[in-house]
Amino acid sequence: MSLDTHPVIFGAGTAWYKSPDDDGTTIHQPTVDAIKAAIDVGYRTLDGAQAYGTERELGIAMVESGIPRASFRLSTKAKSTSNVEKALEESIVNLQTDFVDLYLIHSPFPASTDVELQDAWREMERCKQRGLARDIGVSNFSIKNMSTILEVATIKPSVNQIEMHPRLYQPELYDFLRRENIAIQGFSSLAPLRAESGNETRVLTTQLAAKYNVDEMAILMRWVIDQGAAVVTTSSKRERMATTFSQVRSFKLTDEEVAQLTATGKGRWFRGFFADEFKVA
Ligand code: NDP
Repeated sequence: MSLDTHPVIFGAGTAWYKSPDDDGTTIHQPTVDAIKAAIDVGYRTLDGAQAYGTERELGIAMVESGIPRASFRLSTKAKSTSNVEKALEESIVNLQTDFVDLYLIHSPFPASTDVELQDAWREMERCKQRGLARDIGVSNFSIKNMSTILEVATIKPSVNQIEMHPRLYQPELYDFLRRENIAIQGFSSLAPLRAESGNETRVLTTQLAAKYNVDEMAILMRWVIDQGAAVVTTSSKRERMATTFSQVRSFKLTDEEVAQLTATGKGRWFRGFFADEFKVA
């Protein structure tokens, strides 16, 4: 995947999660409309997951956009670590497509043993061999989880999608993934905007936003992109989608600014997703 051409990915999760009570067949029109707005603004890389319950909405939005399937890069994620192949067959039907561009194991946590995780990866490899997924990867995997599947992998994971912002200090994981040539997709890059105001990350983000004449969100997304990763974001507001899409391409942080932002999070550990699971892992 070329991160230069696809640095910003539109996500159909978080804000769009369906209620666990949803019967799986009801179409949530605001989700369809938001994805269509994102496509209209220019997003072509779309991030879904079985757990979000929004694969049907993603499929409808892509079809109704009138843009050929080949123009999109579409990903989904296996909710469980068992039966990932069968789950993808169902996802593909929901997404109204024949294949996904990227299929990820959503997290390692459903697997209770290393062997289960390794078996899940073997099934992922079958998905690629059958052409159901062009690329396969993982999400929320630690260095230990990655090493576990690398022991048995005949096809290396192409991506690890992880929470990535300066309030979550994890340079060892980034270095490991770079060494292994595994691409990073970072989600929740805007988490520092939701943290208390006046913290060091916010202060520096505000200063850099003034320097580059962009919104703070663009600074946080560049912090991800300028470390060689793609950023996964979402919004319900068309104007924000458009601002994001244009501002993040309009400038670049210096290496020193990236390092300064990283330093504001040193020793910090704020996690918006899977915080409990990571504590015991
Ligand atoms: P972000 O950190 O990008 O946050 C997006 C949220 O921030 C939206 O709800 C949006 O609300 C709000 N927002 C957008 N712009 C601004 C702004 N300028 N100032 C303040 N708030 C703003 O990402 P998320 O954590 O929401 O995740 C994005 C995607 O990443 C998900 O949809 C999913 O696809 C993926 N993801 C993957 C996970 C995994 O386990 N693999 C876990 C979590 C996310 P508004 O609608 O008001 O604009």
